[in-house]
Amino acid sequence: MKKRVLTGDRPTGPLHLGHYIGTLKARLDLQDEAEVFVLIADYHTLTRGVDTKNLRNNVRELVLDYLSVGLDLKKVTVYRQSDVPQVTELALLFGMLITVPRLSRVPTLKEVMRDEKIKTPSFGLLGYPVLQAADIALVKGEVVPVGRDQASHLEVTRELIRRFNSEFGEVFPEPEALIKGEVLPGTDGKAKMSKSLDNAIMLSDGGEAVEKKVMGMYTDPKRVHATDPGHVERNPVFIYLDAFAKDTGKVKDLKSRYEKGTISDVEVKRYLVEVLNEFLDPIRSRREELEKSVDIGKILEDGRRKVAPIADETLSKVKEAMKLV
Ligand code: ATP
Ligand code: MG
Repeated sequence: MKKRVLTGDRPTGPLHLGHYIGTLKARLDLQDEAEVFVLIADYHTLTRGVDTKNLRNNVRELVLDYLSVGLDLKKVTVYRQSDVPQVTELALLFGMLITVPRLSRVPTLKEVMRDEKIKTPSFGLLGYPVLQAADIALVKGEVVPVGRDQASHLEVTRELIRRFNSEFGEVFPEPEALIKGEVLPGTDGKAKMSKSLDNAIMLSDGGEAVEKKVMGMYTDPKRVHATDPGHVERNPVFIYLDAFAKDTGKVKDLKSRYEKGTISDVEVKRYLVEVLNEFLDPIRSRREELEKSVDIGKILEDGRRKVAPIADETLSKVKEAMKLV
């Protein structure tokens, strides 16, 4: 039996190279060997504020990003969270099994509050990990690929499922986290590429945008002249080359010349522009085709139809186990 995998994204804007390295690549590998569900977590976007004017368009862009990198709808089920409202019922029930202090201790809550300048969390934000647990449990997800930063949320899911199972009987498998992929730094040298930090190269960026961003990239701050020996480690230009260049021999050569001080930053960056455009070109052309032909409504409806019976079945079992029916 294929393992059931649940992954997803909040539809908050276009995906970037960091998302590719951190999650999309793993999904592309998994789609052949597992039963993959990809959740467009629109309810989750509301936990950070209820400005929804771009929401529909963001959902569309997210689907386009998925398809243009090569997620195959014959193999994976893409669905929108709010199209399967059973998740809210399960989240409500899960909410009875966890305390407020436990949720207040989830480390990412503090990070989100700091980053988004939120003084007091809403009920919804505090309950974010509970809703996430319901997302996973609803489809009986067994494997959840997450970024390192998300591991603490999955702990809440596992606790909730253990608590439920021990209280009411084994209804859910206990999901395991699959931590895959590295964290890609930003073009400014910050530890994480992120659209909110404005240091990201988007999968939908055109050739000129990529060139501009790469030529302005942070490299080795101690290096002033092309003849100065440079540092390769923690240098985002080389981290990107390691992640995306096919010609590893060439990268090795560039690194050794950089360390010796026989090549300029500009030359290395020009090569990176070439490498990234070569990686992005097929993604761009697929996107261009899809823009003309894609029927987002139909894709979401197909996803909803596949997930709805699974959701109904899970909820029936839950209610039976809890003697609600
Ligand atoms: P952004 O941070 O760019 O605004 P976001 O907030 O929608 O995007 P996150 O919630 O930070 O994205 O991450 C979504 C998923 O993508 C997570 O699994 C995370 O680990 C992964 N991810 C995001 N940025 C990176 C990155 N720079 N490198 C590797 N993985 C990343
Ligand atoms: Mg983020």
